[in-house]
Amino acid sequence: MDINKLKVLFTEEQIQNKIKEMAEEMNSFYNGEEVYAICVLKGAVMFAVDLVKHFNMPLKMEFIRLSSYNGGTSTSGKVNAVDISLPDLNRKNVLIIEDIVDTGLTAKFLLDFIGCNFHTKSTKFCSLLDKKITRVADVDADYYGFEVDDKFLIGYGLDYDGLYRNLKYIGYMEKTDLE
Ligand code: 5GP
Repeated sequence: MDINKLKVLFTEEQIQNKIKEMAEEMNSFYNGEEVYAICVLKGAVMFAVDLVKHFNMPLKMEFIRLSSYNGGTSTSGKVNAVDISLPDLNRKNVLIIEDIVDTGLTAKFLLDFIGCNFHTKSTKFCSLLDKKITRVADVDADYYGFEVDDKFLIGYGLDYDGLYRNLKYIGYMEKTDLE
């Protein structure tokens, strides 16, 4: 893959403005109540870190690691829990933070996992990006930043074969440029 063919979809400024908007919405929902934010590694790390800086409620951060991609550019269709150790979330406000909802299998897996193991006070799912068009599982994010087309996105946490997570913007490759 030739990284020079990456086209900018969302600039750093667009991403940061959107994150501020999302955080304001969540600040008013939680209204100062304590929240457990669960960042889904590795992809959501940039988004989670930038989002929580705008929160004004008492916050605890947890990190879990799931994977459904095998280093390629499409999901394997199976979600692997690489590390899903969590504290007691009973009666807590739980906010799951993801980078992108694609098929929705990861979101469904996580929401089912939390629902089966805890009686939370509230469980919300937020994602910076939402590829509604490729959805397989019947799930929707409670909060999302941008709706996107079925393109392979790279940057700001999203990788290509482990690379480019550190880009400040989000770009996309034409499918034909991915080989
Ligand atoms: P889902 O389970 O909803 O199909 O996929 C969720 C995961 O797939 C995301 O957390 C992300 O790691 C990966 N993913 C989905 N779409 C893209 C994409 O366009 N680019 C990259 N790099 N990863 C993606």
